[in-house]
Amino acid sequence: MLSDRVTDHTLVDLKSNDRAQAESVSQIQLHIYALGYRELTGHRADYVEVYDLDGRKRSARRVDDGLLRGIAADVRAAADALRKGVLRKRPSKKRCGECDFRMVCSSGAKVV
Ligand code: SF4
Repeated sequence: MLSDRVTDHTLVDLKSNDRAQAESVSQIQLHIYALGYRELTGHRADYVEVYDLDGRKRSARRVDDGLLRGIAADVRAAADALRKGVLRKRPSKKRCGECDFRMVCSSGAKVV
C-alpha cells in the first residue's frame, strides 16, 4: 500500500578514516551532492550526513539553504571558467594544506 506520508530525504556520504577530510570540505561536498540530487530528482534533500565507517558514527545536519545558494553560484562560476579555460590558481596555506594535489602542484609547494 502506498502512503501519503512525506519523509525526510537524507544524503549520506560513507567515509573511512583513510578518507577523512576537514569538516568544512565535507559540508561543501555534501551540499554539492544536495544540488545534484535536486537537479536529478526534483526533490530537495532535507539533511546531509557523514557516516564514519570505522567509528560507526553519524554526523548529520539540516541542509543550509544559504550555503546551498552560495555553493550553486560557485559551481556556476567554476563551470563557466572551465568552459572558457580560465581557471586561476588561488594558492593559500590553508587551501593548499588540505589539497590532494599539493605534492604535484608548483603553486601549492610554494605556500605549504
Ligand atoms: S595545491 Fe595547487 S591545486 Fe591545490 S589548492 Fe593549492 S594551488 Fe590549488
